[in-house]
Amino acid sequence: MGVTRQIKVGILTAPHIEFEQRANTFILKNVRIGIGFHWDRYEDQEFAGTLEIRNNADGTQTAINTIDLEDYLCSVISSEMNANSPMELLKAHAVISRSWAIRAMQKPNHEGFDVCADDHCQRYEGLRRMSERAVEAVRATAGQVLLYNDEICDCRYYKCCGGKTEIWRTCWEDIDVPYIQSVQCDYCKSPSPKILRLVLNDYDQETKVFRDWRIEYKDEELDAIIAEKSGIDFGHITALEPLHRGASGRIDQLRIVGTKHTEVIGKELKIRYWLSRSCLYSSWFEVAHEKGIWTLSGHGWGHGAGLCQIGAAVMASEGHPYEEILSYYYVGSRLSAPAK
Ligand SMILES: [Zn+2]
Ligand SMILES: [Zn+2]
Repeated sequence: MGVTRQIKVGILTAPHIEFEQRANTFILKNVRIGIGFHWDRYEDQEFAGTLEIRNNADGTQTAINTIDLEDYLCSVISSEMNANSPMELLKAHAVISRSWAIRAMQKPNHEGFDVCADDHCQRYEGLRRMSERAVEAVRATAGQVLLYNDEICDCRYYKCCGGKTEIWRTCWEDIDVPYIQSVQCDYCKSPSPKILRLVLNDYDQETKVFRDWRIEYKDEELDAIIAEKSGIDFGHITALEPLHRGASGRIDQLRIVGTKHTEVIGKELKIRYWLSRSCLYSSWFEVAHEKGIWTLSGHGWGHGAGLCQIGAAVMASEGHPYEEILSYYYVGSRLSAPAK
């Protein structure tokens, strides 16, 4: 390491980009944030680094910010994490976000820039929400990435494993990713309200029961949900049969039996999506059907592969250093040497 890397961030696309150049920064006017959420609004944002305005073929413009990777990370950690989180959690997240960003720079998901400023990539809101503790975490881990056999790890994470983490193939391609193994996690068992406040944003805190959850549907309710989500007329649903589970217990093959149609679906995300008006917390659940009521009793929130955010927050608050947190959830991985 030691070499300064520059990352190109596509901040927004609009009919006309308005900006103001300052001595060492620039201000973008009317940036829309939280699109579709209750905090959806426009604000002016200030950025370090350089600004390029690209004219697109469809007549719109895109603002692209080129900035030192470490400075970018300070803003990302400030935007993504609560500033009062335990320092070791902030450091673990700095390493994860850096590893993710470098992989994205090697194989960009976007045309003309490496990452976008939205949740699609990593949330990046410029200088105005910068927290000192996030900056401290990025500086303390300067240049450090997570490695497995000298390759940078694809550091996946989610809210809560539910007691055991999942393997790659339950969620994505049929491959073995050696550092994404199923590990026992007792840390997320009974997090204090204080930890939950730190890890979950306001919106997420409305849903307090997620490590062990339960959802009930009347027959006609489930029929309607599956019809709506799948776009297929299954008729009346008569059975939900888990055919295969991953290492944590998350179902990755589910047979849905209806009076008009039967189909086996997977993987975990599709199952979560088809069985809920929004999305089930996870695909780790047991099914019961009695007296016209379907009951799904489940565990965990998210795909479960990689780092358990609630578990990691508890580990950090109990005094485990970030190195230990990372090697707990990414088995056999190691940290690269910090930049000098
Ligand atoms: Zn993106
Ligand atoms: Zn956990």
